[in-house]
Amino acid sequence: MTSKLRCPNGHKLSFDARDGGKQAMCPKCHSRLTLPQPRREVSDTSILAVLGAPPADRSIVLRPTAPAAPSAPRRVCPRCQTRISAGFQLCPNCRTYLPASCRDDL
Ligand SMILES: [Zn+2]
Ligand SMILES: [Zn+2]
Repeated sequence: MTSKLRCPNGHKLSFDARDGGKQAMCPKCHSRLTLPQPRREVSDTSILAVLGAPPADRSIVLRPTAPAAPSAPRRVCPRCQTRISAGFQLCPNCRTYLPASCRDDL
């Protein structure tokens, strides 16, 4: 099946429909162009419906970057149960020395 298109400079071109979607070059003006995909609404959508697969969305969905949550790991003083920021090595409440390895896994 032969499809036709015009290059950006207006040259009439024909191509094999099976090459739809490929990059091509106008033989007259050497313009780069993309061959249009042949539309087959009925067959394509019916096949997708049978397979139950939604049309592939190839666009990359960018998620907003979550703000760097200051979720610093926290520890609990083993003596007074006070929650202490992981940066502290001394419990501000009871002055117990807290080695860095003593972490409370939350
Ligand atoms: Zn051309
Ligand atoms: Zn304490």
